[in-house]
Amino acid sequence: MKRFLMMTLASLVALVLVVPQAMAARTRYVTIGTGGVTGVYYPTGGAIAKMVNKKRKQYHLRATVESTGGSVFNVNAIMAGDLEFGVVQSDRQYQAYHGTADWEGKPQKKLRAVFSIHPESVTIVAAADKNIKTVYDLKGKIVNIGNPGSGQRGNAIDLLQAAGIDYKKDLKAEGLKAAESASMLQDGRIDAFFYTVGHPNGSVKEAVAGARKVNFVEVPKAIVDKLVAKFPYYAPSFIPVDQYPGVMNKKNVETFGVKATFCTSADVPDDIVYAITKEVFENFDEFKKLHPAYAVLTKESMLQGLSAPVHPGALKYYKEVGLMK
Ligand code: GLU
Repeated sequence: MKRFLMMTLASLVALVLVVPQAMAARTRYVTIGTGGVTGVYYPTGGAIAKMVNKKRKQYHLRATVESTGGSVFNVNAIMAGDLEFGVVQSDRQYQAYHGTADWEGKPQKKLRAVFSIHPESVTIVAAADKNIKTVYDLKGKIVNIGNPGSGQRGNAIDLLQAAGIDYKKDLKAEGLKAAESASMLQDGRIDAFFYTVGHPNGSVKEAVAGARKVNFVEVPKAIVDKLVAKFPYYAPSFIPVDQYPGVMNKKNVETFGVKATFCTSADVPDDIVYAITKEVFENFDEFKKLHPAYAVLTKESMLQGLSAPVHPGALKYYKEVGLMK
């Protein structure tokens, strides 16, 4: 009897010691790549992580968020296995999967789409004292077109090219990260900057709030039409000026845009992608409240603008609720 008791006690001790360790070991960590902290990707990663982390006991999953150089960096880090997820411009998703632009001849066939999020507009913020009203006025100016890992750099180059401006010769192009743009503009070190981003966002607010007055630069309709005709991923868009009190423009500013999308790799397990998709969609109303840029979202709109194949984990959820066949 004594021996039996001892053995039971020993097994109990083993259970108490071993089980929590085993359970803890089962927690899987995933990292979401975003963008600069004053953009919309960073809080978007945070919003998605918040949804899934609420259920970490159920899914044994913990999502963390990383500030990165943006879309191009995120695609490459997902493909290298350094990140499990990333927020990526829809044009960048298309280019990476099809092997164009930054991925010319190197299609990223393992890239997978999960859902799309808020619309992003190609936004050009300029110092009012430089009198840059339209894209053509950028000639001869010091312009931050974006760091190489960013999404906006490609949009800036496409736009300048469509306007007949050679970014290597006709202006002084800088390659700074978006988070530095506002202070550089306020310090007089650049005349304008490009940012492909959802509205409102912290970076543009920071630029507008400074002592140096700023305005948004208009993209002429003829150029928007040209870009939309040439590239399948561009659409006409505008910058809502009422979201930036103090900006010099009085009317919404015409431009073009893309969508922010949530991407992953075919190598990320189905149940992880399923869990994240499910938590975002099942808590859609709560999710929508997490950023004003999500005001226009509907569940259906979150399935548009995906050009890489939808990850099977996400597809399982969409089929379950009838959002996809
Ligand atoms: N669209 C930008 C990029 O791809 C990031 C915008 C943001 O952080 O909200 O680099």
